[in-house]
Amino acid sequence: MSYAVLITCEHAGNIVPEAYKLLFDQSEDVLHSHEGWDPGAWHVAQYLGSQLNVTPLGCHTTRLLIEANRSLHSNQLFSRYTSHLNDEEKKLLIKDIYNPYRQSVQHKIEEQQKPVLHLSIHSFTPVYQGKERKVDLGLLYDPERASEHRFCRSLKHELACLAPGLAVLDNEPYLGIDDGFTSYLRSIYDDSQYLGIEIEISQKFVGDLGKVQQALGQGIIKVLFP
Ligand SMILES: [Zn+2]
Repeated sequence: MSYAVLITCEHAGNIVPEAYKLLFDQSEDVLHSHEGWDPGAWHVAQYLGSQLNVTPLGCHTTRLLIEANRSLHSNQLFSRYTSHLNDEEKKLLIKDIYNPYRQSVQHKIEEQQKPVLHLSIHSFTPVYQGKERKVDLGLLYDPERASEHRFCRSLKHELACLAPGLAVLDNEPYLGIDDGFTSYLRSIYDDSQYLGIEIEISQKFVGDLGKVQQALGQGIIKVLFP
């Protein structure tokens, strides 16, 4: 099966547009933490794009303003910095930041002549609630979607050869069917049109992403072009 590859990054940056700067007064540390964005994720997205010859799409505005990886009905759409805003102000964030990004991804999917393999790149904190996570790299998908399951099984197999010792786990540290952009897109496009895979990379590799992203790039190429 041949796919059109689409690479996205919902938490690519921690930019705060000028009009919203006051909301984040004294919050530089939070903006630079995982709460504000996914460190390393955009770097990996760009690397994979260069290997697969596609231009990645990213949301570079901080997730603390509006969360591009949540549905409009989610109670996590707005953060502790924006949940107090009034309806008009929230609508403006949806119109100016959320919709343009999500629609640009949807347009990309719809202009393809082939089924789309969507790789949504994220990163996670290696330590959660004081405990070290056992996962280095997570492949998040819907186990009930045969094409997604097959792709992830093959990629896992390739990664086991390319990067032995790298703990690659299915649907860890989050579930692929949790509320997120890929889950939303699955509700629109069926298994024959769309594969939505979130790739979650441990932030312990930030600063030294070389080996992990190389293995990932080579693994994906091997699965796509056996
Ligand atoms: Zn993320």
